[in-house]
Amino acid sequence: MSNKPMKNLLIIISGPSGVGKGTIVNRLLSTGDYALSISCTTRGARKGEVEGKSYFFISDEEFLKTVEENGFLEYSKHFEHYYGTPRKFVEKQLKTHDVILEIEPNGALQVKKSHPEAILIMIVPPDVDALRSRLIGRGTESRDEIERRISRMEYELSKKDLYDYVLVNDNLDSCVEGLHNLIKDLKGANI
Ligand code: 5GP
Repeated sequence: MSNKPMKNLLIIISGPSGVGKGTIVNRLLSTGDYALSISCTTRGARKGEVEGKSYFFISDEEFLKTVEENGFLEYSKHFEHYYGTPRKFVEKQLKTHDVILEIEPNGALQVKKSHPEAILIMIVPPDVDALRSRLIGRGTESRDEIERRISRMEYELSKKDLYDYVLVNDNLDSCVEGLHNLIKDLKGANI
């Protein structure tokens, strides 16, 4: 048997808005096996979001200063707001845990460049038309906003071939189980 320490995994999960990735990530976290990276963002907090748990909500000035100081592992602009992964937190947590980043494809691909060992997983809907209808269906957004979301969904799905694994969320339990088993297998192979 090898005496080499088991390396922890940097796991990146992406998927279009509405695909259920937040729920999937929460289910993974409830196992206690993973650390979640909390991102910084310049967008305002939504109802129910908690500073330091959902995000670190910071100003544009603070964000750009952190960029200058090379404080982000990756960052990206999404719908007019910046989002970034704090470098120090991820590097520290990786010493003791597998770390999950829930980020969009531009950021995911930046991390893959600097950390080729990172595992990129995209969650996709079983039925793209159904997700499109759901994005249209709420009736609370303007036509422009809906179109923006749909083109964003199409853009995100168009990046799926660049991911290491693509999982279909047709059933929450089996998707979570599939993801958990995939990570366990990768962990076993990563000794
Ligand atoms: P929301 O504003 O709905 O919370 O997130 C919008 C998008 O930004 C989601 O696709 C989410 O995964 C992504 N995101 C959240 N944090 C980060 C981050 O640190 N970096 C990047 N590149 N994307 C992020």
